Amino acid sequence: MTTDALVETYFRTGTPPDLPQGHFIDGELAPAASGRTMDSFDPAMGEILGTFAAGDGEDVGRALSSSVRGFETWRRVPPAERTRTLFRIAEALRADADRLSVIETLDSGKTLAEARGDVMGSARLFEYYAGAADKLDGRAPNLGNDYTAFTLREPVGVTAHIVPWNYPTSTLVRGIAPALAAGCSAVVKPAETTPFTALAIAEILVKAGLPAGVVNVVTGTGSEAGAPLVADPRVRHVTFTGSVATGTRVMQAVAPNVTGLTLELGGKSPLVAFDDADVEAVADGALWAIFSNAGQICSAGSRLLVHRNLHEAVVARLVEKARALKHGHGLRDPDMGAINSAGHLDRIAGFVDRARARGVDVLCGGETVTDPETGKGWFYAPTVLDRLGPDDEAVLQEIFGPVLAVQVFDTEEDAIRLANGTDYALNAGIYTRDTGRAMRMARAIDAGQVTVNDYWAGGIELPFGGNRKSGFGREKGLEGLDAYTRAKAITLAA
Ligand code: NAD
Repeated sequence: MTTDALVETYFRTGTPPDLPQGHFIDGELAPAASGRTMDSFDPAMGEILGTFAAGDGEDVGRALSSSVRGFETWRRVPPAERTRTLFRIAEALRADADRLSVIETLDSGKTLAEARGDVMGSARLFEYYAGAADKLDGRAPNLGNDYTAFTLREPVGVTAHIVPWNYPTSTLVRGIAPALAAGCSAVVKPAETTPFTALAIAEILVKAGLPAGVVNVVTGTGSEAGAPLVADPRVRHVTFTGSVATGTRVMQAVAPNVTGLTLELGGKSPLVAFDDADVEAVADGALWAIFSNAGQICSAGSRLLVHRNLHEAVVARLVEKARALKHGHGLRDPDMGAINSAGHLDRIAGFVDRARARGVDVLCGGETVTDPETGKGWFYAPTVLDRLGPDDEAVLQEIFGPVLAVQVFDTEEDAIRLANGTDYALNAGIYTRDTGRAMRMARAIDAGQVTVNDYWAGGIELPFGGNRKSGFGREKGLEGLDAYTRAKAITLAA
């Protein structure tokens, strides 16, 4: 069915596309050993979307046994064949983009355009790493005439992928695509509010020719399914994306087994606008830096640092644009979709309510709203908090919603101090016509990625990740392969 037909059916009958039922183990869907299920919701309606398997240690054990066997199969597949398989997967994802995008929209609350972008970006990720799978060469270091030495890049083994709810498809794929290119197998644990696309993608992988057992998916909660997975000694690398609190728990869980770890955690990223920047470009940049995916992006530009001379003009334009944004059910493709869960909506509202109570200027938004078509769902109005001090809670804490914190600066030194003034160091945007200043700022801001005169520029070809409490390790780009391979040095005496 086309996207239009799927959307029309959902609105007319309340029936979503077929949602895969069970875990995905050894190439097929299988119920939880305990028989338990959980509910997942359509956040834009606030109603149950479907049920999924509530996994526990027993299911994780079965999935890991399968992935251990899957690794032995997949590591022996010639690299050129791995390349061909990953290319076929990319095509299969594109071919199924309509269904996947609708499921992703229904489960996460994001807009259809965003979900489609995530699915197409995931196809592109497979394509990118398909091209790398047969080029993972070693080196031949020069030890002089008495020895001949070379290195092999070997797959690390079974990998675990713990995925959050804000980008269920793209976070999953940016982990498993390089892992598969390197010859690793994987067990995936999607977030408990967005389980379905991981299962649908696992089915697609096998249909496209990936041997059964190379990718397994166990759904369920973090404590019941995620915790036993990351703590299992059969796992040789964990790729975790989520909150700082859970990330530090995962660090402790992997420590006894000395398991490798990539942590992609939160952010409080600055967009810094100098007074020579174009007001309209800054307002547009700041608008989409914070309101894309309703602000539920780790790398969102959640702080606007603006020069005092530009402050009034930029904020006026930004508020005008924010007020004009349309929200609603993601399947109607408005500007902004829903907040993923009722609990998270309360958390966002709590931050703004506390800001208002301590006298912060709330220039727009500042309230929970519903879908104007149905009066239902979990939404938050686009919100701008003005002239915040460096120690304000809304400046220091990640809100992970459509709430922008505006800070004013006078000098370049001020801007650097404010930009680096939180525990996070993930992303940054710099708006200025002065390229010398842009480069000075790009070097001085502690972040994994910096963009000049734009915010979301860049693609999967660039490494992505954070410093300090934003985590460590890099995904995407050729750097994304590093976690999944290890060098072995072999030396022959002459
Ligand atoms: P979360 O940390 O609560 O959950 C993330 C995942 O971890 C979920 O799948 C959850 O089930 C699992 N989990 C929970 N406890 C676990 C445990 N003890 N062991 C193993 N797994 C466990 O985060 P969330 O609420 O799903 O996502 C929002 C957070 O994620 C935000 O703070 C955001 O900044 C961050 N995030 C970061 C990035 C990034 O790339 N840096 C991307 C997306 C989200």
